[in-house]
Amino acid sequence: MAIYVVLMGGPGAGKGTQAKKLQKQMGLPQISTGDLFRENFKNETKLGRQARPYVDSGELVPDEITLGMVGERLKRPDTEGGAIFDGFPRTIAQADALEALLAENGERVNVVPYIHVDKDLLLKRLAGRWTCPVCGRVYHDLFNPPQKPGVCDVDGAKLYQREDDTMDTQRRRIEVYFEQTAPLLDYYRGKGLLIQIDGEQSIEQVFEDLRKAIEEAR
Ligand code: ADP
Ligand code: ADP
Repeated sequence: MAIYVVLMGGPGAGKGTQAKKLQKQMGLPQISTGDLFRENFKNETKLGRQARPYVDSGELVPDEITLGMVGERLKRPDTEGGAIFDGFPRTIAQADALEALLAENGERVNVVPYIHVDKDLLLKRLAGRWTCPVCGRVYHDLFNPPQKPGVCDVDGAKLYQREDDTMDTQRRRIEVYFEQTAPLLDYYRGKGLLIQIDGEQSIEQVFEDLRKAIEEAR
């Protein structure tokens, strides 16, 4: 049976970290709209040029652009058994559109784990985040350091700090999350799909809680 998981949580809550681990363990593809935008920047596509100013300033990319990109991604056959959405949906309109897209194949969102992390800690998480340009894995210079400073454990690439991980943009992204994305918590709670998880635990413990929540929804 296919299973579609929506990971909720503020910027820095650990969605990408956990989605990558779940992808590996469960064999479900991670669909991260942030990663998809960054791929478009790298490939210098038209969509990338349209999205760039929003991403750079920490605002949400307009739904029309984001939804077109997700619709295309869901056409790829690797999503037939399900997917883990990370950073999507971020607005009620996106959540409604996702429901419609999945319904076309008789599917639906099955479970929405909400990785809860306090606002002050979100900022600290973003401030120390380092990303691998090759595999997209994230590290933290204090909380989750690579074995060798500045280098990805898996492929040895030199880590970088995302261009939208500047102090001002980080603050704005957190504000935008509380204004525009947090209302989705009630939306999914109302559908009986939301499961809150303590995101301030270790990466391993958060993963264990997530795994259980997803297994129970299967
Ligand atoms: P998101 O995708 O929700 O924005 P990330 O997965 O990019 O979050 O994680 C943000 C930062 O916090 C990264 O530097 C990551 O290494 C670190 N991190 C993620 N989960 C934890 C955790 N449970 N404990 C400590 N640091 C974490
Ligand atoms: P973080 O891991 O810090 O939460 P993301 O990588 O998920 O950041 O997103 C980076 C930026 O990409 C966002 O600030 C926003 O500009 C854009 N973005 C990502 N996902 C969406 C979405 N679902 N809707 C609109 N904009 C998005």
